[in-house]
Amino acid sequence: MLRINYILMAPFVSAIETGKYCGENNYEIHNYQKKKRKGIDKMPDFTTLSKLELEQLKDDLLAQYQTFKSRGLNLDITRGKPCPEQLDLALDMLDCVNSKNYMTEEGTDSRNYGGLDGIPAAKKLFAEYLEVQPEELIIGGNSSLNLMHDAFMRAIVKGVSPDCPPWGKLAQIKFLCPSPGYDRHFFICEYLDIEMITVAMDENGPDMAAVEKLVSEDESIKGIWCVPKYSNPTGAVYSDDVVERLAAMPTKAADFRIFWDNAYTVHHLADQPLLLKNILEACKQAGHPERVFIFGSTSKVAFAGSGLAMMAGSAKNMDHARKQIAFQTIGPDKLNQLRHTAFFKNMDGIYDHMQKQAAILKPKFDIVQSELEKALGGKNIADWSRPKGGYFVSIDTMEGCAAEVIRMAEEAGVKLTPAGSTYPYMRDPLDRNIRIAPSFPPLADIASAMQLVGICIQLASVDKLINK
Ligand code: PMP
Repeated sequence: MLRINYILMAPFVSAIETGKYCGENNYEIHNYQKKKRKGIDKMPDFTTLSKLELEQLKDDLLAQYQTFKSRGLNLDITRGKPCPEQLDLALDMLDCVNSKNYMTEEGTDSRNYGGLDGIPAAKKLFAEYLEVQPEELIIGGNSSLNLMHDAFMRAIVKGVSPDCPPWGKLAQIKFLCPSPGYDRHFFICEYLDIEMITVAMDENGPDMAAVEKLVSEDESIKGIWCVPKYSNPTGAVYSDDVVERLAAMPTKAADFRIFWDNAYTVHHLADQPLLLKNILEACKQAGHPERVFIFGSTSKVAFAGSGLAMMAGSAKNMDHARKQIAFQTIGPDKLNQLRHTAFFKNMDGIYDHMQKQAAILKPKFDIVQSELEKALGGKNIADWSRPKGGYFVSIDTMEGCAAEVIRMAEEAGVKLTPAGSTYPYMRDPLDRNIRIAPSFPPLADIASAMQLVGICIQLASVDKLINK
């Protein structure tokens, strides 16, 4: 790794060592050699380089960038889509339900109407999946995002429970948005005119001191978005302390709701799965059993376009939702539920399947890490997440560089998630976050894409430092 950096930097290093580049400026030579003597045989911390050194470095990086550009790449690492090999793992699901097998264990015909919140076998399995009781679960269609959107709509039109006013009747509704976060959550709020308040995230979850203060003071704050496990995009897993505080915190709004999007609950990449405290139990213990709406799906377990989506919460919340959903549908796709239960059978079946998925995904995540380390390690210009699961890697560049990096990468043939996407209103206040989604492209493409991203980050940082 160090060697590659040295080779890439060879023209720069030799120019400086021979004094050619610095001309008469012995101070520059001395300074650089001093850095080298300190054991730096790769590029040093960029922030310690002189303007002259930075300019030479920029020339070298521009040459590398042009070489990439001339390759005519056409790569896309924008969205967390499963790759065909992952989807192939579930192919047998398509044969589980067929012209001879479409009855449930109870003898119900899955081809017909009915079963508003799921067939018993699916409810049993996916209640375990989301760590709730079957009566605390509703299985919907194929998209959890759809269920989240509908939960908002019901809250706006009818209120979150019969004794609460519809949010839509209030002058203003606000939602807390831990960020970097999931762009589609933020789009729902923007679409529904819900004002978003950004809250900082760290490796343990949202900044709870800020959350507690905001919700205790402002009645118009009706809820918070959470992706509590292998969060999109940072990979953070909420700590027990964060889960307990979310469950217990006093809120000015009596109808405050946590939208707990547990999209990546079984999506481990490490040998040792990380654990997440059970939010519904925590809410019950804190005396707020109705506070949380939990969501999940098998979009990234089975087929992204034909998974099972589910919503969970207290029996009271789910009864209320069921009554409303009854106006919307006569029942979900039970054949797909049967397919899932016949294929996975139980939680061990799901865990085994996810291990096979991890075997495909892990090398892709590893290559993102190794390319980032090669390109940026020790240079003090970027930091990035090292997720133990989920679908994303989150990079923080120097302030004011992310949009430029994304623009440059696209110009050279690599599409990244648009700048600002991980923040409400697509506005990253410090213009520094970039989301990488490495699941879909083949390994070699990810390596090329990340090498280019590394060059673009260095270029944007060097420019920033030169113009400081
Ligand atoms: N939630 C999160 C956090 C996600 O990252 C995604 C997919 N990118 C979804 C929900 C979408 O889930 P579904 O396919 O079930 O609508």
